Amino acid sequence: MSTPFKAQTIVVVGGGMIGLSVALGLRLQGHRVYLIERSGRPEYTESPELRVSALAHHSRALLRELGVWQRLPQQRLGPYTGMQVWDHDSFGHIEFSAAEAGADDLGAIVENKVLEQTLWDVATEQGVQIIADDEVVEHTTNALQVTVKLRSNQQLQADYLIAADGNRSPTRERAKLPLSFWDYEQTGIVAVIKTEKPHDGIARQVFLPTGPIAWLPLNDTHLVSLVWSADEDKAQHLQALDDQTFINQLQAASDQCLGKLELASARAGFPLRMQYAQRWLDDRLILIGDAAHSIHPLAGQGANLGFGDVVDLLPVFASNANHRELRAWERKRKAAAVTMISAMEAFKRGFGTANPLAKLVRGIGFKAANSIQPLKRQLIKAALGE
Ligand SMILES: Cc1cc2nc3c(=O)[nH]c(=O)nc-3n(C[C@H](O)[C@H](O)[C@H](O)COP(=O)(O)OP(=O)(O)OC[C@H]3O[C@@H](n4cnc5c(N)ncnc54)[C@H](O)[C@@H]3O)c2cc1C
Repeated sequence: MSTPFKAQTIVVVGGGMIGLSVALGLRLQGHRVYLIERSGRPEYTESPELRVSALAHHSRALLRELGVWQRLPQQRLGPYTGMQVWDHDSFGHIEFSAAEAGADDLGAIVENKVLEQTLWDVATEQGVQIIADDEVVEHTTNALQVTVKLRSNQQLQADYLIAADGNRSPTRERAKLPLSFWDYEQTGIVAVIKTEKPHDGIARQVFLPTGPIAWLPLNDTHLVSLVWSADEDKAQHLQALDDQTFINQLQAASDQCLGKLELASARAGFPLRMQYAQRWLDDRLILIGDAAHSIHPLAGQGANLGFGDVVDLLPVFASNANHRELRAWERKRKAAAVTMISAMEAFKRGFGTANPLAKLVRGIGFKAANSIQPLKRQLIKAALGE
C-alpha cells in the first residue's frame, strides 16, 4: 500500500540538465524545491553549441512529460534515423536504422545549453526557486533533515538534498563518499564541422586504435558535431595542430564518409574519466547524474543514464519517500550504471588495440553483428539506451 503524499522541502545543487530535470519533476509533484547553481541562466547564440547530447527515447519521454521537449526550438534539434559504425583498420562495418527498430528515429541530438535554458525557464515558471550565482559551501545531514549553507550566507533547512553538481561534485567530496574510477587517459575533442555531403540524419562513428571519432548530425544537413576521443599523447598532438592540419587529419581518418570537411567552430577538449560513487545515499543526501557516475562518451549514454536516475527517482517522491525505497532506487540505478560502464570498457579494450589478430576478430565480429538479426536487435536496443 502506498503512503499518502506529503509535500517535502528539497534542495537540489547543480543546474545542469539532470539537476534541472529532477527539480522540475519534484516541483510538478507539489514539493517545495530550491535549486542552487553557481552560474547564471544558460545562454546560447545563433551558432551551434560545442557540447551536444544524443538523447534516447526514455530521456525524451521524460522531457515531454515535464513539458520541456515541446518548448525546445525545433531548428536546434537533430533527430537521427540511422547509425553507421565501422573499424578504420579492418573490414568491420555495422549499420542500422530506426525502421529496423520499428521507430521513427533512434533519438535526437540536442545542444546542451539549448536544453538547459529551456529547462531553466520551465522550472522557473513552475515555481522552482532557483538561486543562481551562488553555491553550497557546507551541508549537514542526519536521519531527519538537511541543513545547507550557501556562499551568500543564506541557510536552508530541507527534508532532502539532491547533489547533481557534475562529475567533480563538491557535495560528494564534502560528504566523503568514496569513488571507484579509472582514467581512460583519453581526451574528447569537440567541434562543429561543415560537411560537403549531407549527413542524411545518420550518426557515424569510426574506431581507430587511438580511440573513436563520432559525427553527430545537427539540424542543418551539412553540419555535424564532432567528438574525437583520443589517447592523451594523440589528443595533445591534435590540440596543438593548426586548424587546417587538424582538418586534414580528420579527413584522413573519416574514410571520406562525409566528403570534404571544414571546421565551423573553435575546438575544445574534455578529459574522459570513468567513475562512480560507491554510495549514492548518505542519510538524506542523494547523488544523481554525473555526480554519481560518468562514462566514456563513445555510446553517447552519460546524460541518458542521468535522465534514467530521474525517471526512477520521481515515483519514490510521488508518495512519501522513505529510506527503503531510496535504497531500492540506488540498487537499480547502480546496476544500470555498472552495466553501461562495463559495456564501454569492453568496447574500448576491444578497439584500443592495433594487434592484427584482434583486428581480424573484430572485423568478423562486426560482420556477424550486422548479419545476425537477434545480435543486431540487441545492438539496436543498446543504441536506444534500453
Ligand atoms: C565530449 C562529451 C560528449 C558527450 N556526449 C554525450 C551524448 O551524446 N549523450 C549523452 O547522453 N551524454 C553525453 N555526454 C555526457 C553528458 O554531457 C553528461 O552526462 C551530462 O552533461 C551530465 O549532466 P549533469 O547535470 O549531471 O552534470 P553537469 O552538466 O556537469 O552539471 C553540473 C552543474 O552543477 C553546477 N555546480 C557544480 N558545483 C556546484 C556547487 N558547488 N554549487 C552550485 N552549483 C554547482 C555546475 O555549474 C553545473 O551547471 C558527453 C560528455 C562529454 C565529455
